[in-house]
Amino acid sequence: MPAFQLYIDGSFRDAAASFDSLDPATGKPWARMPEARAAEVNEAVAAARRAFHGAEWAGLTAGERGKLLLRLADLIEQNAPRLAELETRDTGKIIRETSAQIAYVAEYYRYYAGLADKIEGAHLPIDKPDMEVWLRREPLGVVAAVVPWNSQLFLSAVKIGPALAAGCTMVLKASEDGPAPMLEFARIFDQAGFPPGVLNILTGFGPECGAVLTSHPDIDHVAFTGGPDAGRQILRNSAENLASTSLELGGKSPFIVFADADIDSAVNAQISGIFAATGQSCVAGSRLLVQNTIRAEFLDRLREKAGRISIGSPAEMGTEMGPLCTLRQRERAEALCASSVAEGARLVTGGHAIAGAGFYFPPSILDCTDAPAASCLREEFFAPVLSVQGFDTEAEALALANDTAYGLASGVFTRDLTRAHRMIRGIRAGVVWVNTYRAVSPMAPFGGHGLSGHGREGGLAAALDYTKIKTVWLRT
Ligand code: NAD
Repeated sequence: MPAFQLYIDGSFRDAAASFDSLDPATGKPWARMPEARAAEVNEAVAAARRAFHGAEWAGLTAGERGKLLLRLADLIEQNAPRLAELETRDTGKIIRETSAQIAYVAEYYRYYAGLADKIEGAHLPIDKPDMEVWLRREPLGVVAAVVPWNSQLFLSAVKIGPALAAGCTMVLKASEDGPAPMLEFARIFDQAGFPPGVLNILTGFGPECGAVLTSHPDIDHVAFTGGPDAGRQILRNSAENLASTSLELGGKSPFIVFADADIDSAVNAQISGIFAATGQSCVAGSRLLVQNTIRAEFLDRLREKAGRISIGSPAEMGTEMGPLCTLRQRERAEALCASSVAEGARLVTGGHAIAGAGFYFPPSILDCTDAPAASCLREEFFAPVLSVQGFDTEAEALALANDTAYGLASGVFTRDLTRAHRMIRGIRAGVVWVNTYRAVSPMAPFGGHGLSGHGREGGLAAALDYTKIKTVWLRT
């Protein structure tokens, strides 16, 4: 069985403990992973602190930091097949998706490489002739980053890119579910030529490794992506060190289709909006709100298309949907489908785990039009399960869209431009996609409200979030 190592202070090393990682396609152990605990976390944070103040990193110009990030982007591209293959093996995400995602992961690093020397301070025209007053933007310090399994290379790029562009250093905890791509990424990062300790990559369990890291007294900022329960815990942890936080949490995003929409395009977007990544996506369009006049036809088309999705080995290029990452996820999806049916939801398709080896669950649709209290309308599945509600009026669509404690993403499908604008204004979510879904760009900020967290990733603002302002008063 292959064995992976931690990356601390520019060196690869074993942890005192280790655990098996399961291949989601077979349910069997396939690799041995190091399990970082308090001792390893303390070493990694100390290394990041030394690197933060050390001349090798702190003495670089912003442009030099940018060049290192550019080299990293090139290396990611050169090693893309290996990274994609490992992510597919360890998380069950299909090879088509992991390969495509790595291409834009490199683009995110290039974008932040380009921003490194554009993080500017300011001069204040203060009303005192003998004073010069200006603002310096300095790196925030040592960052703790914690990511979930579902798109680790991407979710870490939107943290590592801006943080290193700004001059911070980082300790990143990969998920205990499917950490292989991050531990392999450490090997690529190591070749890019960054000084030791600038980025340290650990894996271990949330309540031990994650908790020690995010409450560590020498951490200045915590960048977290994961579920709301762990998010709350992270906020409690960061009360210990008073670190600033950004929380990218879950979603229960509405996907709203009006009768005047381009139906072909809406059907295709809804299919990939919910079933891509086997539903394990924070922006999954998991609540379809469809105008009642087209509901029956729309559901028929969805069921027919869902039935044609080819489910199989995630390593095969022809596979369109692979397994869930963990057995826990599959059990949760099945239980939530069953309780929603008991609450009155109608099962249109799927709803039961696929028998056999691996953590497979089929594309599933629950019509909740007559079951507004069904738990599938409130709970995030993080699985390929779509809940559906019909509506008659625009006002009703907006009320249903906002009837959630989350506020991450949303989609609106209509040909009526003025209605689209009204919906954009009314929807409480960090992202509104109109007549499209899931589009991303390094330039576009991303993040949510409410249970979906706070802070934004992507764009220039994210790089500024990794800086702190120092105000300088100089008497002339
Ligand atoms: P999770 O919250 O259980 O775990 C995420 C990470 O947090 C893991 O690395 C875990 O080890 C760590 N963790 C858990 N408890 C911790 C603690 N007490 N202290 C410190 N770290 C701790 O989430 P998950 O089930 O692995 O991932 C799925 C969730 O992530 C979903 O809710 C999904 O919507 C969310 N997500 C959000 C985004 C986004 O950008 N908004 C993107 C992807 C996933």
